[in-house]
Amino acid sequence: MNDRPWQDLLAESVTSADELCRRFPVARKTVLPVIDQYPMRINPYFLSLIREPGDPIWRQAIPDPAELEDTLPEADPLAEEAQSPVPGLIHRYPDRVVFLVSSQCALFCRHCMRKRQVGKSNAMKPGTVDNGIAYIQETPAIRDVILSGGDPFLLSDDHLIEDILKPLRGIPHVEILRIHTRIPCTLPQRITEALVRRLKAFAPLYINIQFNHPAEITPNATQACARLADAGIPLGCQTVLLKGVNDSPVVMRRLMQKLLAIRVRPYYIHQGDLVKGTGHFRTSVREGLDIMSALRGHTSGMCVPQYMIDLPGGGGKIPLLPEYVIEKRHNEWYIQTFDNRIVAYPVSNEGRRRN
Ligand code: SF4
Repeated sequence: MNDRPWQDLLAESVTSADELCRRFPVARKTVLPVIDQYPMRINPYFLSLIREPGDPIWRQAIPDPAELEDTLPEADPLAEEAQSPVPGLIHRYPDRVVFLVSSQCALFCRHCMRKRQVGKSNAMKPGTVDNGIAYIQETPAIRDVILSGGDPFLLSDDHLIEDILKPLRGIPHVEILRIHTRIPCTLPQRITEALVRRLKAFAPLYINIQFNHPAEITPNATQACARLADAGIPLGCQTVLLKGVNDSPVVMRRLMQKLLAIRVRPYYIHQGDLVKGTGHFRTSVREGLDIMSALRGHTSGMCVPQYMIDLPGGGGKIPLLPEYVIEKRHNEWYIQTFDNRIVAYPVSNEGRRRN
């Protein structure tokens, strides 16, 4: 099953409550209102990774009534739509934009920060691609374009390459192209040799993938990432910190180590955004910082990503670090090591000059 064409796997996705109830012990009447509000799609590959109800793969894929009971009020707390000069193009920082080119995904993740849009037929306004490219063309400050969605790899090869990547690469001030995707994790069969051969032409092109649990690093995912890496495409990972999925130092450390082994550099761990319908996945910031403390020094620095919060209201992403500086005394700081010793460090040469 795992080596079948991606189009066939996608077509066999579970999208209805009846189909889900035939496979798993879930009640139709609890699933129906959830998927009425937030659509469900679970392709057979990702479904095959579920070992038991409630496991980390299940939690990311199976609709949960908690999505409707959430008290978080806002569907778009990051003000993405308010910061879109044209529909589907978020221009928050001076030199880069996020370009939402698809509203479709191979899995509709229950924790998605754009669950207000993904899988909904009216999410992509007509003319989004053309208007977005025109805006980028007319805005010389933009040097970095991030294709996101939905998942850009749910588009056909021809549409992604001919209608989006080629015109963008033809804009002189666009230096960097990035694709944000879950495909190598959720439907790795989509990363075909033919697609990768065509993507190679767009360097510098970076791909950031969302892997959230070590069980997602399968032979198929490994092969998809190897194809991309062999083509010279740098790969990063943006993991989302999720309660019941990866909110443990042991799980997170193993995930980061396994990512590095398949040539995917851990880039960010995201604190869950304050998105309506995802409150049951949120951990405290304290838990996130504890996980960062358990990574730094306990495994290779290349396995340690940045822990980011995306501030509400469009404030942007800010990195958070555990407190390593315990005390500052004029020329000396007292700094905590990874194994909890305190070491004094001279922070300037002032004292030495006086002596
Ligand atoms: S693949 Fe990404 S955009 Fe699609 S549902 Fe999952 S998190 Fe959201």
